[in-house]
Amino acid sequence: AAMREEHIEKTKTVCTYCGVGCAFDIWTKDRKILKVEPQIEAPANGISTCIKGKFGWDFVNSEERLTKPLIRDGNEFREAEWEEALSLIESKFKETRETYGPDSMAFISSSKCTNEESYLMQKLSRAVVGTNNIDNCSRYCQSPATMGLFRTVGYGGDSGSITDIEQSELVLAIGTNTAESHPVLATRVKRSHKLKGQTLFVADLRKHEMAERADLFIQPSSGSDLVWLSAITKYIVDQGWQDQTFLDRRVNDLEEYIASLAPYTLDYAEEVTGVSKDTLIFMAERIAEVNTVCVLWAMGVTQHLGGSDTSTAISNLLLITGNYGKPGAGSYPLRGHNNVQGASDFGSMPDRFPSYEKVTDEKVRKKYEQGWSVSLPEEPGLNNHEMIDAVHEGHLKLMYLKGEDMGLVDSNLNYVHEAFEKLDFFVVQDIFLSKTAQYADVVLPASPSLEKEGTFTNTERRFQRLYQALEPLGDSKPDWQIIMEVANRMGAEWSYSHPSEIMDEAASLAPLFAGVSYERLEGYNSLQWPVAADGTDQPVLFLDEFPFPDGKAKLFPVEWTKPLEYGEEYDLHVNNGRLLEHFHEGNMTYKSKGITSKTPTVFLEVSPELAEERGLNDGTLVRLTSPYGNVKVECLITDRVKGKEVYLPLNDAGEGAINYLTSSYADKDTDTPAYKEVSAKLEILREK
Ligand code: SF4
Repeated sequence: AAMREEHIEKTKTVCTYCGVGCAFDIWTKDRKILKVEPQIEAPANGISTCIKGKFGWDFVNSEERLTKPLIRDGNEFREAEWEEALSLIESKFKETRETYGPDSMAFISSSKCTNEESYLMQKLSRAVVGTNNIDNCSRYCQSPATMGLFRTVGYGGDSGSITDIEQSELVLAIGTNTAESHPVLATRVKRSHKLKGQTLFVADLRKHEMAERADLFIQPSSGSDLVWLSAITKYIVDQGWQDQTFLDRRVNDLEEYIASLAPYTLDYAEEVTGVSKDTLIFMAERIAEVNTVCVLWAMGVTQHLGGSDTSTAISNLLLITGNYGKPGAGSYPLRGHNNVQGASDFGSMPDRFPSYEKVTDEKVRKKYEQGWSVSLPEEPGLNNHEMIDAVHEGHLKLMYLKGEDMGLVDSNLNYVHEAFEKLDFFVVQDIFLSKTAQYADVVLPASPSLEKEGTFTNTERRFQRLYQALEPLGDSKPDWQIIMEVANRMGAEWSYSHPSEIMDEAASLAPLFAGVSYERLEGYNSLQWPVAADGTDQPVLFLDEFPFPDGKAKLFPVEWTKPLEYGEEYDLHVNNGRLLEHFHEGNMTYKSKGITSKTPTVFLEVSPELAEERGLNDGTLVRLTSPYGNVKVECLITDRVKGKEVYLPLNDAGEGAINYLTSSYADKDTDTPAYKEVSAKLEILREK
């Protein structure tokens, strides 16, 4: 046994899937992944993982991994050496910038990549090419939550830690399928609910596992969350149950805010949302009565026309009830990808440098100009939604996108694919030939998390290090190395020899990460931003003050925006989201046998009532058609959905891909697509 163990390596890593940020040792022998062993000192998960973290690693050695750069040759790709691919990129980048200017180019970072890689991508865009056209996929998910928190409390991240959620007296989960999307975090809530008497309220369209377990489950009509949240807040204020001491000491704009609640009476809320007045009163009583409330929310809240406003309403409720700045309370917009928090934190946003400092702030810009020895663009750039429009309008000619399957995850796919075809030059960097990569002119082979060093930041703002377990496969390279080579071809003189040097540079410029260093993150050590220069971090935010000039939070009035209307013909509402076994479109999970044997394909959840009315059975093949496109998928009859509500999981890259149905309508404040506002008609293609 000793002999056999000789070549076995144990390497600490962080899960590549969701934002919970489970850390564990991974056992490898050569390229073989033997097992995943969580360690008690892992801060987010201890000894737990879910099926994806435990069994979702086959993709790393998949035969479909890209191992060589690819260059388009008519309708095909041919393999090429790095030298040829990079030379082609260099000449096209230079030519485009000279002919059309830097703003004709755009960059997309990845939430699967490390913080250091996000930092370099925005530096390439800003400092080397000279444009703020840089974004990342949080535009598709939690940007509205960030907006709601910026408006009210100043930082766009979870206000406490996962342990605070665990300790809270009452958890309110809105539009989050936590048990499937953030399984290890959900386990902690389930445990507190069962063993410690934690109260669990769930609001969602679909009766998922958390809803089954909840003390109270409400199903407000789609897109109406702002109305019942505001009605509860108003009722609390009308009864005089607000936390007046907290409001007096720590919050501004109370009167104006209270006046804005006038329309949100219980009668109005009952009429709009379908949730009874008595239920809303019961919720208000419990929320006002307990000492600590945590609100968890996700895409069911954010992916609407009024996603930012609803997120703001959540934060307003927490302020009114004094649920910030103490352990066991606060706001928790649960992050989807392992590093979607970090992608934004490190400046892959069109209007923000790392640390969320504004590109329009002259002092900040000067700091970066000095730090990077360049002059920088002054105007905010295009977000990824605007980039697609700009391609259609002819302003945007070139895109460089890494680790993001925009051609599947953006809304209104037919429109997105047309834009890809219109680009003069398109570089995609990924580990697989994704749907998006199929439209590229050059595809660069990158390395997944196990093949590189770096840091990820989980949903609780926690930095964790990942160590390299395997060599890059074939000719693939870590993203940070590829970005550096592209930058140097464009005239930069970067010479990072390890990601720790990139972090040191970021920490010297970005105040939120001032004290972050690889030494402080050794092994299972972690830090939660903001991290002061002496290394003090903040597991719970706002203990003393809010990050506004006078240290006080703001109550921010918001109004309800009605969801999109599709007309009578499109009579079914199509909800969508994840399944436990698969991660988003399944680019990685479909390549793991342990997972596909359990959930091999996508299906459409249909209620028993609708099945009866339309003659649908398990396995009936149907076509759903919206004004923007159609999908083909088999039915699964279940009481998880009710009435004319159907549910289409995201995990399909083919004819069942949800985004053939979604529109280009988006949250009015952040341009996050209104993915959850989809209606469609159904026809049977094959009986069962
Ligand atoms: Fe990975 Fe999330 Fe599962 Fe943890 S809960 S193992 S981070 S997918």
